[in-house]
Amino acid sequence: MENENSEFSLIVYGTRGSLPAPSNRDFDSHEFGGSTTCYLIKYKDHLIAVDTGSGAMRLGDDLMRQYEAFRTGNGKLVIAHTHGHWDHIQGFPFFVPAYIKGNQIAIYGNPKKVMTSQLGDSVKHSDVPLVRGVHEIQMNPENGVFPVALKWLQSQIAFPESLDGLRTAVPGVEIAYKKVNHPQECYSYKFTVGEGKDRRTLVVLTDHEHDPELDRLTDYDKEIAEWLGDAHVIVMDGQYTPEEYARTKGFGHCVGQKAVLMVEEAMHYDADKKLYIGHHDPRHDDEFLRRYETDLQEQARDRGLDKNLSVCLLKELDEIKL
Ligand SMILES: [Zn+2]
Ligand SMILES: [Zn+2]
Repeated sequence: MENENSEFSLIVYGTRGSLPAPSNRDFDSHEFGGSTTCYLIKYKDHLIAVDTGSGAMRLGDDLMRQYEAFRTGNGKLVIAHTHGHWDHIQGFPFFVPAYIKGNQIAIYGNPKKVMTSQLGDSVKHSDVPLVRGVHEIQMNPENGVFPVALKWLQSQIAFPESLDGLRTAVPGVEIAYKKVNHPQECYSYKFTVGEGKDRRTLVVLTDHEHDPELDRLTDYDKEIAEWLGDAHVIVMDGQYTPEEYARTKGFGHCVGQKAVLMVEEAMHYDADKKLYIGHHDPRHDDEFLRRYETDLQEQARDRGLDKNLSVCLLKELDEIKL
């Protein structure tokens, strides 16, 4: 059930996984988008970004244009990182609100401590959360990666040492998290607003690899389905087709057809669901993705799910109201 007047929504700033995929004369991506993973979740005046892939540049520009608070150094943003792979952080150096003095940006993510030796000699901390480490590596002129150091940014950037603070970091939004199956670990986030019949729940589950069996669910798949059980909107990785998965097993990504099976299982908990498949492969153009979307919709229809479940591929700049 979509609520056009809802104050709870998700705006898609990046649909791609692995690498940006801009259009050119041989490759068309303007329909599904070419930027890597970045979502904005809005609840009333509160803002949460999930990941800062290359789509974060446009997100930052929109925040500067739309909110006086960000222009005047009074903006507040929570960023929840699923993990530190480059396609999920690479837009941050171009995120203008982070350069404005006074803006407050709290960056949550993998709290696992990493040592200096893992970050390169130029990072002075001996023991920092991984989420901070990857940002420090990415913005560090000493290692030649980017000419501006993270510590030079004028906004107040905080890296809370634990993910627990995220649960209550945004007034009115309950946030839960779960570690999922991906190289170097990844987190899925669940955002809930309201209670009882007014409850609306969104889950972002990107960069997750299911059990390799594609036509049945294992106990681990069922555990993930339970996590998805109370969600009304699910944004899920579906980077590979079953044919591609034969050579991409272990890369940490999901096959769209298996995502549909897992969400079918999740419908036993609450049948009101919309599934949006994202993290599109950079080699998949619009024509490919349209075909893939039709395949997944036919699968849902063949399994008798289509009355309750809508299945779509994410498109850049989609606004999904909960
Ligand atoms: Zn990714
Ligand atoms: Zn990844």
